[in-house]
Amino acid sequence: MLSIARSYDNMISFYVQVSKIMKEYDEIFMREALLEAKKAYACREVPVGAILVCHDTVIARASNAVEKNCDASQHAELLCMKRGAAELSNWRLHDCTLYCTLEPCAMCAGAMILFRLKRLVYGAKDLRHGAIEVLEKPHEIHRVAYEGGVLVEEAKNLMQDFFRERRKEHV
Ligand SMILES: [Zn+2]
Repeated sequence: MLSIARSYDNMISFYVQVSKIMKEYDEIFMREALLEAKKAYACREVPVGAILVCHDTVIARASNAVEKNCDASQHAELLCMKRGAAELSNWRLHDCTLYCTLEPCAMCAGAMILFRLKRLVYGAKDLRHGAIEVLEKPHEIHRVAYEGGVLVEEAKNLMQDFFRERRKEHV
């Protein structure tokens, strides 16, 4: 009995280690997504950034470009998936994880299903346009795994600073 208990304890500690490594792994790429968000900030775009990772390699980067291109659909995560698909010459992103600093809107979450994205990792919740529930609904063709709250404070602070500055300009 003791040996069974011990191996069970070992198993738990193994899973704890794996989850820690996964967390650190996700944080490495989320920091890259935050760099993209900061680029958007510097261009007076809503500071959202995204990174697409395939087999441990960044294959695409993007930041919000709505103002620059005068196009409300130019969200970081959508641009990032488009660039990644072009890079792979394959619109099916079966082996890719998208890191985005903000929860996706309905358009981007829908696009994640269409692009057959494997996994989404996001930072802060988007109280205005967030639509993670799109990924919760069972879909007959594809299901995107997802996780939120990675480096949430950094992403949230960036958004708050941005909107605080914009409000000051309008006073
Ligand atoms: Zn979006």
